[in-house]
Amino acid sequence: MPPLPPELIEKFRAIVGAKYAVTDPADIEPYVTEERNLFHGRSPLVLRPATTAEVSAICKLASEYKIALVPQGGNTGLVGGQTPHNGEVVVSLRRLDKIREVDTASNTMTCEAGVVLQIAQQKAAEVDRLFPLSLGAEGSCTIGGNLSTNAGGTAALAYGVAREMALGLEVVLADGRVLNALSKLKKDNTGYNLHNLFIGAEGTLGIITAATLKLFPKPRAIETAFVGLKSPAEALKLLTIAQGEASTALTSFELLAEMAVDFSIRHGIDVRDPLQEKHPWYVLMELSSPRDDARATLESILTRAMEEEIVDDAVIAANLTQRSGFWKLRDEMSAAQKPEGGSIKHDISVPVAAVPAFIAEADAAVVKLIPGARPVPFGHLGDGNLHYNVSQPVGVNTADFLARWHDVNAVVFEIVLRMGGSISAEHGIGVLKRDELPEVKDKTAIELMRQVKAMLDPLQIMNPGKVL
Ligand SMILES: Cc1cc2nc3c(=O)[nH]c(=O)nc-3n(C[C@H](O)[C@H](O)[C@H](O)COP(=O)(O)OP(=O)(O)OC[C@H]3O[C@@H](n4cnc5c(N)ncnc54)[C@H](O)[C@@H]3O)c2cc1C
Repeated sequence: MPPLPPELIEKFRAIVGAKYAVTDPADIEPYVTEERNLFHGRSPLVLRPATTAEVSAICKLASEYKIALVPQGGNTGLVGGQTPHNGEVVVSLRRLDKIREVDTASNTMTCEAGVVLQIAQQKAAEVDRLFPLSLGAEGSCTIGGNLSTNAGGTAALAYGVAREMALGLEVVLADGRVLNALSKLKKDNTGYNLHNLFIGAEGTLGIITAATLKLFPKPRAIETAFVGLKSPAEALKLLTIAQGEASTALTSFELLAEMAVDFSIRHGIDVRDPLQEKHPWYVLMELSSPRDDARATLESILTRAMEEEIVDDAVIAANLTQRSGFWKLRDEMSAAQKPEGGSIKHDISVPVAAVPAFIAEADAAVVKLIPGARPVPFGHLGDGNLHYNVSQPVGVNTADFLARWHDVNAVVFEIVLRMGGSISAEHGIGVLKRDELPEVKDKTAIELMRQVKAMLDPLQIMNPGKVL
């Protein structure tokens, strides 16, 4: 990107006001760095608009002068999508933080893009409803970011991914036009479903400014168990029993390798092992029911699984504190890998039935490639989605290990594709997996994606270089 002329900075400043056009490098720093320190960008200007009209004016001006924009929400994305890698202007949506309407009769909530996920959840709870999207970064990620990455999280098993929770969107297009598709309708067969194009587009097609989200009945009873077992195959058997007995009340089913649990206990603050003894694998499962039957159902599932020798040990949370403790152990898992040195990440999905075979094959392939490498798989078994992370061998040089990132990816992705899976289950493509995408996706699909991009963003100013 050529340097941004001062008179153009002035024009952008006039749109959002001097206070919200950030140019001081020290103030820009938090917008160009990210959680894992994998990416460090640069930008001459961060714009912090407060309204859709301001976002529209920014896009119009950017179009006129062909200035590239990078939309940013909570900056918790894990694939470098929200980072300005080439000196683009950052458009931070955090000040679009109003909840425009809550409609309990229609069970909808219309939020602006910058509303933090946790705030949306709290607002739903205040009116005795549930907004079920839930993920480790929920204290800082935003609704706009969640939709742009089509986030998954720990309740996708029962409620689906972010796409399934959005009835409509308001989007500012690259040329500044506003697409008002803020529908509350469940049924609307009037042609192409345009708003869905922007969900999962990672900011490459337009800027989401608001969304109408679905609300669900608030569960009356939530019961959570922490289970020890021998293998992913046993976990799969437990999942089948749990789905048979609990049906849609089974809201989470997380598979955790022993090493992932060990790291969390070793490095997390106030994280404890809920079980007396160590087990090779663990499951964190949760039932949420509109009736008071969750406890009895969970006990019945675990009793049967113990009788059939699928489960070796299990504990049901006795109270909210214990339940939070189980989830803390799970939520600390990503951060707990940092003190163990370099970690090569994968966010893959395979058909649920293929998860045990995937883990066995991937472990063998990774250790053959890098002797001593430590696979740390954990994730959403119920969705066939694993964070298949690989920590460096103890004592080796971290940079040398991380230099093998693409080699490790290649062996893991080969297994994923052979099993009919996806190289990005929930975090997206960003720049991290951009170069691999054309290799693994249907050629016609890639062609259509390029054509859609060219139609909506002919000047290539909307998050250029991401996804495609
Ligand atoms: C500890 C931790 C746990 C996580 N767990 C999960 C998980 O379980 N499941 C999961 O799916 N993800 C998870 N993530 C990843 C991340 O939190 C999600 O991708 C989240 O949805 C990103 O939201 P954000 O507001 O931070 O978006 P950002 O990081 O700011 O942006 C992400 C992408 O969306 C684009 N974008 C942001 N806002 C807009 C907008 N308004 N309009 C258009 N484009 C926009 C950006 O350009 C970028 O490409 C986790 C991250 C962390 C750090």
